[in-house]
Amino acid sequence: MNAGMCHQARAESPRNAARGASCRRRLSLRNLILSLLLSLSAALLTACQRPPPEYHETLFVFGTLVEITVVGSAPERAAAAIAVVDKRFQRMHREWHAWKPGGELASLNTALANGQSMTVDDFLLPLLVQSKQLYEQSDGLFNPAIGAMIDLWGFHSDELPVGPPPEQSRIQALLDRQPGMDDLRIDGARVSSDKRVVQLDLGGFAKGYALNDAIATLRREGIANAIVNAGGDLCVAGRHGERPWRIGIRHPQGWGVIAAVEAADGECVLTSGNYERYRQHQGKRYAHILDPRSGWPVDHVASATVIHGDGGVADAAATALTVAGPGLWQHIARRMALEYVMLVDEAGGVYMSPAMAERVVFEDKAPRRVVISGENGGEENGDGF
Ligand code: ADP
Ligand code: MG
Repeated sequence: MNAGMCHQARAESPRNAARGASCRRRLSLRNLILSLLLSLSAALLTACQRPPPEYHETLFVFGTLVEITVVGSAPERAAAAIAVVDKRFQRMHREWHAWKPGGELASLNTALANGQSMTVDDFLLPLLVQSKQLYEQSDGLFNPAIGAMIDLWGFHSDELPVGPPPEQSRIQALLDRQPGMDDLRIDGARVSSDKRVVQLDLGGFAKGYALNDAIATLRREGIANAIVNAGGDLCVAGRHGERPWRIGIRHPQGWGVIAAVEAADGECVLTSGNYERYRQHQGKRYAHILDPRSGWPVDHVASATVIHGDGGVADAAATALTVAGPGLWQHIARRMALEYVMLVDEAGGVYMSPAMAERVVFEDKAPRRVVISGENGGEENGDGF
């Protein structure tokens, strides 16, 4: 949740028009192009079939365009339901922001830094509870308690950081204090920690949680068939007319999609990658996903994709798997009970769980190296599919 929230609707209402003018300026060109290309890819995937009647709106939230498509509902009902989602998105962005003051999470971080406890509202509380579980299940590779380390690397800013990495002594000083979600005490709604170094950053989890929440909200508002797509991270409800939703998995190198997959009712597809936000220095990119064990950005994996019925789990798991890398991903997938996992390494090699391999269809350029591995070891296909 790093950038400002704006809203753009195709058929612009006065509500959107007022906000839109100032917000559009803040759209990063890259996000815009990426989202348009992903939308185009999705459109091409469906081009062969007669499309059912659809209603679209595009919001700008969490630093990216969020495209909502509703199928088979009256436009007025779809618009009203999306307005409820938009309101919740705005509240999430404000309240769960890690470093912009004024929200619930920022206040909690201030309290923790001062060694104080705080009673949090029931909008934030479930995220903290679930984050603790996901931290345990991922052996600490998903660790939203390393907010101070993420800040040290310069990622608590709307702009991409530049310049050399922080001094190793400063990284080590934070590492030595070992901030972890097990240091966060949750007693009812009262949250505290004995370690002032614990600073929460839900950037690896909240987007998936929010997408999940959006689908639940749309369902509550009477929408049965919808997709909520935040730059290639998405959750779906129902079907796309006569067939399941067919979506593209983001390609870590380039701006297209690497593979297509059909998403069943209630599924979410989340991809974490080191290609969008990074620190650049002397031609080297330092990713915004940090290995909590070293305090340094991961550099062995370009992206990790997880399909799961819970968007928050999928998001946190994708972050954890990016950290885990080719050596450890199977262990983390097992620990987190993940069925559908795909990793792409820096050289374009693809690693998949067997269940994922059965579902994905690669775009015209199949990867040169594909490793499918599960409980019973691995199987390598040097020629792709
Ligand atoms: P993306 O933004 O590409 O979807 P992620 O879902 O992995 O990628 O989110 C990355 C964000 O998560 C970072 O910007 C930072 O706020 C936070 N983060 C970085 N490293 C970790 C980590 N090891 N565990 C939990 N959160 C992290
Ligand atoms: Mg994530």
